[in-house]
Amino acid sequence: MSGSTSRLQAIAAVTNYKPTTPALNFADTSPSDVFGVNVFSLSVMKERLPKEIFKSVKATIETGSKLDPSVADVVAAAMKDWAIAKGATHYAHIFHPLTGLTAEKHDSFLAPDGAGGAIMEFSGKALIQGEPDASSFPSGGIRVTFEARGYTAWDVTSPAYILENPNGTTLCIPTAFVSWTGEALDKKTPLLRSMQALNKQSQRVLKIFGHRDIAMVTATAGAEQEYFLIDRNFFFARPDLLNAGRTLFGAKPPKGQEFEDQYFGAIPERVLACMLEVERELYKLGVPVKTRHNEVAPSQYEIAPIFENANIATDHQQLVMLTLKRVANKYGLECLLHEKPFAGVNGSGKHLNFSLGNSTQGNLLDPGSTPHQNMQFLVFCAAVIRAVHKFSPLLRAVVASASNDHRLGANEAPPAIISIFLGDQLTDVFEQIKGGAAKSSKTGGIMHLGADTLPPLPKDAGDRNRTSPFAFTGNRFEYRAVASNQSIGGPLVALNAIVADSLDYVATALEQATGGDSAKLPQAVQNVLKDIIDKHGAVIFNGDGYSEAWHQEAEKRGLPNLKTSVDALPYLSKPDVVEVFEKFGVLSKREVESREAIYLEQYCKAVNVESLLVIEMSKTVIFPAAIRYQSELAVTCANLKAVGYQFDTNTLDKVTELVKNLQDSTAALENARSAFHSHSVLDEAKHYCNTILPAMLEVRKYADELELMVADDLWPLPTYQEMLFIK
Ligand code: ADP
Ligand code: MG
Repeated sequence: MSGSTSRLQAIAAVTNYKPTTPALNFADTSPSDVFGVNVFSLSVMKERLPKEIFKSVKATIETGSKLDPSVADVVAAAMKDWAIAKGATHYAHIFHPLTGLTAEKHDSFLAPDGAGGAIMEFSGKALIQGEPDASSFPSGGIRVTFEARGYTAWDVTSPAYILENPNGTTLCIPTAFVSWTGEALDKKTPLLRSMQALNKQSQRVLKIFGHRDIAMVTATAGAEQEYFLIDRNFFFARPDLLNAGRTLFGAKPPKGQEFEDQYFGAIPERVLACMLEVERELYKLGVPVKTRHNEVAPSQYEIAPIFENANIATDHQQLVMLTLKRVANKYGLECLLHEKPFAGVNGSGKHLNFSLGNSTQGNLLDPGSTPHQNMQFLVFCAAVIRAVHKFSPLLRAVVASASNDHRLGANEAPPAIISIFLGDQLTDVFEQIKGGAAKSSKTGGIMHLGADTLPPLPKDAGDRNRTSPFAFTGNRFEYRAVASNQSIGGPLVALNAIVADSLDYVATALEQATGGDSAKLPQAVQNVLKDIIDKHGAVIFNGDGYSEAWHQEAEKRGLPNLKTSVDALPYLSKPDVVEVFEKFGVLSKREVESREAIYLEQYCKAVNVESLLVIEMSKTVIFPAAIRYQSELAVTCANLKAVGYQFDTNTLDKVTELVKNLQDSTAALENARSAFHSHSVLDEAKHYCNTILPAMLEVRKYADELELMVADDLWPLPTYQEMLFIK
């Protein structure tokens, strides 16, 4: 492993790495001391706001009651004083446009006082509403370019916070982002609408079960984030990583992940140091990060928080991604959130754990120890089953992106077929319901481990399943197809809306069957559950989701298998999807259609940039390296011949052939790019998917073969081996 100058420099930088940041000391400041210090939380508000105003704000946050705009001036003043005491000079409305990224527009608190001086000012109006120029954010036809107006609207239910910078801090205010016609241009607006719908329908169901004291029901979410960390020196030496977030070339290294020695392995020192700082920064922002570990691929890791209400979890998840990226740089590392930065080893996903609940009835997807007797749980669980079956193309569409396509369906991540893993216990209960009535629940029992010094362990009633895209994991569902770099907002909007739809269906059926007579409830529940499981049980699959047999079986069951984003995205605007979004006031037809257009456009843009990179790197990086080696071989050949030796030209022949193939395939890719014109974004996306991506792979094939032949000291790009194993 020697390499060209830039590779050698990168390797030297990695091996000589010394921490540049002062060590953290958790003995002096424990995590509980820093947790939430930069959050304008309920307790801070309680301290700083007049009683009546605090009560009003708290009611909006905790019960979902209408925001009283007249509180804004007082809240803004309190927020400003708090922020200035923490060194803030500016405030920023934070929003999540449809790029999937986090956007922020900063404004200074400073205002001239008219007498040559200045004061620090922050009005209620500035808190409630911002007006960023929206013309450079995707709108999918909702707004033409000359209509630049966009508004941000304060989300009081997600707390404001302080973002630190060595040279000052900024007060950040979570907001929704809409066009001047009031249409959603972001992830938050439909998320809040969908949570409201879910609450309303859950309340109906809970009332049927006789509850009278029912707190606001919220969707809950906990997102496990997978990511790679590689040394920045390697990152900057790879135009593909830098510009596309993934390697478009790279031969498979001799050693990959086959030893299974990475998963849960000891975390390298520099990486652990980085994680500790990431966690401390997130603690300050009130993000309850909890677990960390090595993931399956070399240099891959995971971070997961404790779950929170879906809106806050979504905002916090964006902060997790931003913080990972920011802090990694301080440690000379680059955090890769792409779903498939390296071919041949596992990619990264985000496992979205989803449930719903409230403070009075608790987690509504908790089966308890005897689920067959827990009618209420079974109803909520069946509602999810119905929703996932009925709207599986939608669930596939909301995780669709050019990058996630590289991961879904490969044998490492859930397939594109959406099915539900329920586990033995619940599958058995639903089978009994199908047969007439549920009479028992299988139990896990106690495990004895064979050594008296080891404790007896309670055994879960069901095993886990890593191959299922949508798995019940004891008291929640885990949606495992979510992309590692996407906002969890989109998937949550879909889940909330379709579960609300199913709860509406169940509530209506139960209301009609019982007419308010609780004595009739058990039979009505049995009927509705049987009806759902008869119609939608086909979505339940507890076996190996990676197997070929499942693909065939799924087809027989009529479960869609939408392999690519281009197959999936058009489902966003199918009539049943539009209907469910409109019915529950989550997204209008125009809003849904605009989203589909934006995501297709993003797909095209992503593949377009990648294809340009493939051409550029092939011509300016790989081809030159290959012909230098070719020339070296040719010179040796000529020299040897001149002095009467035979030269075995096998290597020269092969290199010459590969160089020709590299040139031809690159030219073919260029042709494929220029030969196509269409005004339909869907046709364009299909072209990128069916023609451009395969043409890119063809170029890669020859380049990767060359990488394994060309003299190492002539190879300019950091190799997989170096990027993944030198830490
Ligand atoms: P595993 O890798 O075993 O699935 P993790 O601890 O990595 O477990 O992640 C599980 C995630 O599920 C955590 O974020 C956890 O807080 C979350 N979770 C637990 N209960 C719920 C719930 N009721 N609703 C949503 N998420 C939940
Ligand atoms: Mg996990």
